[in-house]
Amino acid sequence: MAQASRLVKPETQELVHARVLRTERLSPHWMRVTLGGGEIDRFRPMGFDQWFRIFLPLGGDEGLDRLPAKANKLFGYLKYLRIPDGVRPVMRNYSVRQYRPADGTRGAELDVDFVLHGSAAEGTAGPASRWAETCEPGESVVLIDEGLAFNPERGTERVLLIADETGLPAVSSICASLPETATGLAIIEIPDAADALDFARPAGIDVRWIVRDAAAKPGEPALAALTGLSSKEFPGSDVHAYIVGEQALPTGARRHLIAERGVDKNLVSFCGYWRIGAASPTPKSQTAGAEAHA
Ligand SMILES: Cc1cc2nc3c(=O)[nH]c(=O)nc-3n(C[C@H](O)[C@H](O)[C@H](O)COP(=O)(O)OP(=O)(O)OC[C@H]3O[C@@H](n4cnc5c(N)ncnc54)[C@H](O)[C@@H]3O)c2cc1C
Repeated sequence: MAQASRLVKPETQELVHARVLRTERLSPHWMRVTLGGGEIDRFRPMGFDQWFRIFLPLGGDEGLDRLPAKANKLFGYLKYLRIPDGVRPVMRNYSVRQYRPADGTRGAELDVDFVLHGSAAEGTAGPASRWAETCEPGESVVLIDEGLAFNPERGTERVLLIADETGLPAVSSICASLPETATGLAIIEIPDAADALDFARPAGIDVRWIVRDAAAKPGEPALAALTGLSSKEFPGSDVHAYIVGEQALPTGARRHLIAERGVDKNLVSFCGYWRIGAASPTPKSQTAGAEAHA
């Protein structure tokens, strides 16, 4: 079949300044940060798994004011690296959990669900996780839209969605964008049963929550759930598969789908969202993380 393009790019990739409006601890490993104010009206929601670069003011607002345009591209990124250490904002990748346009009573709002890993208090969390756990209303951030990795041209009627907890916001948003007639299966691995944040979806999409044992390697339980599906349970080789999470999950699941289940590689969208033992990759031009979309 013809290959749908790998990524669906946004209309513009300008810097969008916004502020933290509020935070909400949703479960042991989830913190929702709601952004708004500033230039949030310029953010163009695209549905599905829309993601963006977020620049966090760990060295204060001065670093955000010094961000160059196109800090997500090679030349802009080199300029970004010239911002002195200690002032330079931290750049990370996150998904739109929900965007609400302005109505008569309030401005536009964007919910971002952060996985809390490690502990801010004990100094074992990554910078973005720590920031989400401790940020206060009024703090500034900057966003650059990156568009979609779930390309609807690859099919929206029958889907197989596989993710660890970092992909739950994306899977939830994809389900909110699918037609009501869509069918399929979502396999979602989470660190704790209380982290199973339910989400609206078409009636024909089943969800399997896989709670990871503390000793298990992230991604392995979801992969085992996939490989263990009987042929009756498997949604079919003409499915649009979408796989995100710790790097080994998309790599292993994609290999399984193509080699063992006969899924055309052009129907598999996948992305390594994070890597055990490595700080988040940065721009697409420099990393496998964002380039793993296929
Ligand atoms: C397109 C895209 C969309 C994403 N959307 C989301 C989203 O909506 N919500 C979300 O929570 N994450 C999302 N992620 C994943 C997120 O970007 C990474 O988890 C990121 O590494 C977190 O940054 P950090 O500063 O907390 O940790 P880093 O500084 O990047 O890493 C520090 C250490 O923590 C480890 N680590 C990083 N993430 C995790 C984790 N989740 N669990 C356990 N250990 C971890 C690393 O291996 C490293 O050892 C997305 C990633 C991509 C590429």
